[in-house]
Amino acid sequence: MKITSVETFLVPPRWLFCRIETDEGVVGWGEPVVEGRAATVRTAVDELAELLVGADPLRIEDHWQVLSKGGFYRGGPVLSSAVAGLDQALWDIAGKVRDAPVHELLGGPVRDRTRVYSWVGGDEPAELEDAVQAQVEAGFTAIKMNASGRLGPIASPAEIDAVVNRVAAARAVLGAERDVAVDFHGRVSMANARRILPLLEQFCPLFVEEPLLPTELHQLPQVVSASSVPIATGERMYSRWDFRPVFDTGVAVVQPDLSHAGGISEVRRIAAMAEVHGVSMAPHCPLGPIALAASLQIAFSTPNFLIQEQSLGIHYNAGNDLLDYLVDPSVFRFVDGYVHRTERPGLGIEIDEAAVRRADARGHAWRSPVWRHDDGSFAEW
Ligand SMILES: [Mg+2]
Repeated sequence: MKITSVETFLVPPRWLFCRIETDEGVVGWGEPVVEGRAATVRTAVDELAELLVGADPLRIEDHWQVLSKGGFYRGGPVLSSAVAGLDQALWDIAGKVRDAPVHELLGGPVRDRTRVYSWVGGDEPAELEDAVQAQVEAGFTAIKMNASGRLGPIASPAEIDAVVNRVAAARAVLGAERDVAVDFHGRVSMANARRILPLLEQFCPLFVEEPLLPTELHQLPQVVSASSVPIATGERMYSRWDFRPVFDTGVAVVQPDLSHAGGISEVRRIAAMAEVHGVSMAPHCPLGPIALAASLQIAFSTPNFLIQEQSLGIHYNAGNDLLDYLVDPSVFRFVDGYVHRTERPGLGIEIDEAAVRRADARGHAWRSPVWRHDDGSFAEW
């Protein structure tokens, strides 16, 4: 069996898909993307495809080693995301060839359903309450929200109150049986995080995410020790080498992204490293259906898995949403806040190829927002 072609598709709202075809007609799909840099990753995938065409798709580990290390310069978001999408597609092929879901190839299921959370927006507490109520009515048992807009290095008492009031409003709607996670998005600063985290303890958050930027990892232990709130990080880390120092910081949860951190092959290894340190897995996934399908295969085969992010209705998904490119969207049916385990082969989804090709003809140019403070200086988004 040989790989005959690797194609990429730039599809709205902000995704990139890849399709690997073989000489036996088996096709695998992946989602190699960096949000806001999809065209850059597309070029990386095109270059890496030279290493795959003509090769046996089932030698996944050897491909991972060559794709990740074969260019001398290695790592980082663009290359690791290109490898991630290709790796997903190779696992998809491996499952289809053996007529088994990927989690069967990874040792078999360790759970029958996977808990997922939904995003809520709403900058005003009243809007937030409505958004949380809607997710509760949809059956979700956990939501995630941003804590604030842009913040200066030392937030004012009013800004800190606004963060606390938003989390309080969400908790009031959720009650004690459901969970709220809070994303600081690397925009909060260490000084602010150390002030705010103790004030959030009373609301018992599931976790607080990215209190610091990944470049400030050396300061993370001070944030972890500032309160009892479980700390999560990892969506902007790309390999087990990036994650290794994270496990010494005291975080409770790591969030590798199946489309950024080297795909199923590498995230599975990061999960094993996390297990050694008593750390839970909550893979990042504000992305499309292939990234979510890959995440769920990890969820079903990973013992130290906590909860899965998913993007249905997320604010980024303007124009197109999670289910648009699936022949049968029922694979992602959320029942009481869970997704049930699929028995379908490969990644467990069937891509609507005609819809993907039509969407690629439109393409997209999604970019991360650039924020500025009131004085005109750059602000972390
Ligand atoms: Mg985040």
